[in-house]
Amino acid sequence: MPDPFSTAQTQLDEAAVIMKLDPAAHELLRSPMRELHVTMPVKMDNGSTKVFRGFRVQHNDARGPNKGGIRFHPDETIDTVRALATWMTWKTALLDIPLGGGKGGVICDPKTMSAGELERLSRAYIRQIGRILGPDKDIPAPDVYTTSQMMAWMADEYAFMQGNNEFGVITGKPIALGGSAGRGDATARGGIYCVREAAATLGINLTGAAAAIVGYGNAGSSAHKLAVELLGMKVVAVSDSKGCIYNADGLDYDAVKTHKEQTGSLNAFPGSTAISSEELLALDVTVLFPAALESVITETNTSHIRAKIIAELANGPTTPEADTILYNKGTYIIPDLLCNAGGVTVSYFEMVQNAYGYYWEEEEVHKRLEKKMKSAFQSVHKTAQQYKVHNRLAAHIVAVGRVAEAMKLRGWY
Ligand code: GLU
Repeated sequence: MPDPFSTAQTQLDEAAVIMKLDPAAHELLRSPMRELHVTMPVKMDNGSTKVFRGFRVQHNDARGPNKGGIRFHPDETIDTVRALATWMTWKTALLDIPLGGGKGGVICDPKTMSAGELERLSRAYIRQIGRILGPDKDIPAPDVYTTSQMMAWMADEYAFMQGNNEFGVITGKPIALGGSAGRGDATARGGIYCVREAAATLGINLTGAAAAIVGYGNAGSSAHKLAVELLGMKVVAVSDSKGCIYNADGLDYDAVKTHKEQTGSLNAFPGSTAISSEELLALDVTVLFPAALESVITETNTSHIRAKIIAELANGPTTPEADTILYNKGTYIIPDLLCNAGGVTVSYFEMVQNAYGYYWEEEEVHKRLEKKMKSAFQSVHKTAQQYKVHNRLAAHIVAVGRVAEAMKLRGWY
């Protein structure tokens, strides 16, 4: 599997050539500006002390404070976090929100930890990285296997460190603690708005059309609900880390969600057939939503993909080789930088609401999100046509251009 950071660097390099990017700006953007590596002793329920390792990477803050989620994952590596921090810089620039890019990661397996252990680990992580955080410096948020409850513990720990409540230091908090209405499903909702734009552009009718979803965490499960509710699609297949289920007539969201909550997996959902992950990717669907981890779509499985639109709710699901193959065969990819940027966009709305202590209705959040997503979609689509490149490269050209302009104005090169 390709290392995500070299993928991120390759994507930048390709954009840099087309844009004739200044060599110093290019070099600055190839590496994170700052990173912190930490170790954290945590008391476990059995009385032992376990030492965890984690990172916080600040890729670039030319356009504003670093912003990006925190992942708790057993296979976390510094290179993955570097790649994800880089992608956050592009994402915030592409959506034109006044923030930079950052990402955090802790090597742990949250599925095997108790709530108490997770709380102690969340607090320990903030005690270690808190010195480089702040509403004007770096603002974390949820990501893979981190939840709004963990954001609440982290915000609380930071408040104690500072001696005052600074809720704007973390986003994705519960609504009762300064979270924003509409943040819960914002990643999926932003992606759904993009699918609607893409279908209109391509002249595809989505009503009754089939979709498949890889990954059933926050983004994947919300995409299931919203693809049905907002687009009138039928979701014929979904998967999680334990298996894939299929029903040609469509899977009912509420029933699947309840089944997963009760049994801990999607497997054996009544009325569904078990299929392999390769079979899921090869289904004849209109939209495929990769909503799990990196590098799921590679050069070895692209030839089987029949979806007309790939809507990347995960970060980095497609390798650069797969990108080129899919572009040449006419698959329309809505790249991660655009497709999943609804999350960070509503995170930004959350920071704004925290800063002025006044909270918006959910409809207001949806309206503002839709406007942001549509305008980013149009700039990617137009740039792709202008330069005759695939959408991911177009998204990089737009984003890198904006970050380079800010660095130039600041006198960094
Ligand atoms: N973790 C999400 C992402 O990858 C959201 C980041 C944020 O809200 O800051 O975009």
